[in-house]
Amino acid sequence: MPAKAAEVHEKLGYARAAELILHLPLRYEDETRLTPIRDLRPGLPALVEGVVAQADVQYRPRRQLVVEVRERADEDDALAPTLFFRLLHFYPNQLAQLKPGNRIRLFGEPRQGFHGLEMVHPRYRLVQPGTPLADCLTPVYPSVAGLSQTAIRKAIAAALREADLSELLPATLLTRLKLSEFEPALRRLHTPPPEADLFALDAKTDPAWQRLKFDELLAQQLALKRYALARHRLAALPLKDERQLIERYLARLPFAPTGAQRRAMQEILHDLAGRHPMNRLLQGDVGSGKTLVAAVACLAAVGSGQQAAVMAPTEILAEQHYLKFRDWLEPLRLKVVWLAAALKGRAKREALDQIADGSAQVVVGTHALFQEGVEFHGLALAVVDEQHRFGVAQRLALRHKGQHKTVQPHLLMLSATPIPRSLAMSYLADLDVSVIDELPPGRTPVTTKLIAMARRAEVIERLRHYCADGAQAYWVCPLIEESQKLELKAALDTFEEMQAALPELKVGLVHGRMKAEEKAAVMAAFKAGAIQLLVATTVIEVGVDVPNASLMVIDHAERMGLAQLHQLRGRVGRGSRESTCLLLYAEPLSDLARQRLKIIRDSQDGFAIAREDLKLRGPGEFLGARQSGLPLLRFADLENDVALLEAARDAADELLKHDPVAVKRHLERWLPQGAAFLLA
Ligand code: ADP
Ligand code: MG
Repeated sequence: MPAKAAEVHEKLGYARAAELILHLPLRYEDETRLTPIRDLRPGLPALVEGVVAQADVQYRPRRQLVVEVRERADEDDALAPTLFFRLLHFYPNQLAQLKPGNRIRLFGEPRQGFHGLEMVHPRYRLVQPGTPLADCLTPVYPSVAGLSQTAIRKAIAAALREADLSELLPATLLTRLKLSEFEPALRRLHTPPPEADLFALDAKTDPAWQRLKFDELLAQQLALKRYALARHRLAALPLKDERQLIERYLARLPFAPTGAQRRAMQEILHDLAGRHPMNRLLQGDVGSGKTLVAAVACLAAVGSGQQAAVMAPTEILAEQHYLKFRDWLEPLRLKVVWLAAALKGRAKREALDQIADGSAQVVVGTHALFQEGVEFHGLALAVVDEQHRFGVAQRLALRHKGQHKTVQPHLLMLSATPIPRSLAMSYLADLDVSVIDELPPGRTPVTTKLIAMARRAEVIERLRHYCADGAQAYWVCPLIEESQKLELKAALDTFEEMQAALPELKVGLVHGRMKAEEKAAVMAAFKAGAIQLLVATTVIEVGVDVPNASLMVIDHAERMGLAQLHQLRGRVGRGSRESTCLLLYAEPLSDLARQRLKIIRDSQDGFAIAREDLKLRGPGEFLGARQSGLPLLRFADLENDVALLEAARDAADELLKHDPVAVKRHLERWLPQGAAFLLA
């Protein structure tokens, strides 16, 4: 590989020429035809050729080079169509180049300026009359700093000569789905003929794009399905439906499970009784009662003489689970053990021993559960709460941890973030889903209001009256992503502020840096009503459950994501009191932040919120896959390509059955670096 091409590969992160051919353009520019100046339209990029009529350095409003271009040299008529262009940064030699009378070709987007149409920093070069035009549309590739389009184009042209471009899919499939052949489609995307529809290319609706997007989706489906097949070859311990134990547990609860909870339990118990590892997602909005269902699954494991582990992403959430499981299961004479990174010394050794000798029947904790040194006696079920909040690497570690020779634990994931259908189908093809689509009775709707920061003092006043009536409230402190220290300081400051402003109220504080026992003590006091106003960082985002708390103020709500706001708000509206959530925002708000806040104000439906979130943020972040550094889908998009996705899913089944060679070669072409990230 020539040095220059090697540099392109390295900068773009590709190992082989075959990968570079799939580095496809972001968009295209049409330099195959000239647009006369009089035909230019604002907003439509165009290639223009003309003669410099004048070039001046101007100083207002800032130093810049302003060049006046006309169609022909002999046009001195002031009414002749003129294009201005401006260079805000320029070198002295550019001034020399742009001498009146010189012929130039420029490409850019005209916009309406003060004197007429103008372009800012167009690409331009000096030309001789009659210089030939480009013979294909100009691709513009995704790039990184210091890598020119020209270098990328050259490297790709070389890769196209070298790489294997043969058709890997059966002709019958292509005919049936009306898909183009691979090589012509690929060449068309790298070098589209002048007559190709620029808009269709940019919008990725051109038939060539359809083919490449199909290929991409097919690779994803093949990888996921292969993984699913492998799972079905693995063994798991069948966990008998421990009816008696489960009924005893349910009978002790102060309420009856909802129909939706019962359905989910049945689905899970059915899977657990099978000889292959369950891989099931339990989806239900905040407060829908997933924990109860998870506990039933744990009982199935325990009843079969095995262990269950429950893992949560934060210590406070894990701890709430621990307390709840202990309350629920200890009366049944079951042993629940706590394990988190903060656990030290003897307590830790004891926990590890109990996990290893099997006396710990249910183990609850953070990801410390799946670290080195934790040996389970017989782990039959792993429950992962808020699974999308774990990184990909952690999820992969979890899958490997429980594996004992060829026997794998069953896996139950809980999520309050509903995953839209197209996402579930593409990324979670190897996942069964149970949905709790019903909230327990007695929930009250939460009224949400947006309040500008200028009215913060009024809000504090409102708290005074509110809590005077015996109600309880949360004050959620600003999220400061850059610094935990600053976040802690903000929490401490708010705590002091509230104590000073509301001396008649009992104010409590809970934050992520507190010791587990301290946190537990504060939460217990709040639950018991001894604290009326709880100042908290976002540690209370998940799982916290105090039905009498009916007002929540979220400070600097504009800094939080939608899912996070929805989760936070889910802490209120659990009792009989009418509940309110006040979102305090700082101005000025960006458009995006404004949109987000409106969505959360206007909807309480986790599904609708998640759909909007997907639109605003894109799927990678949604699934917590950002850390992987690998793009999930580069070309296809889940909003618009659902039909292609469905076709790819069916084609994947067919190929896996009848054409293993095509499967192998297709995966080598599309996922040469492996597909582990897709499976996490
Ligand atoms: P989430 O799905 O958000 O994890 P939880 O499992 O924490 O929800 O349940 C929220 C609250 O609802 C808890 O206090 C729980 O005890 C209660 N709960 C769960 N199921 C029911 C039910 N069927 N009827 C009444 N309350 C329930
Ligand atoms: Mg929960």
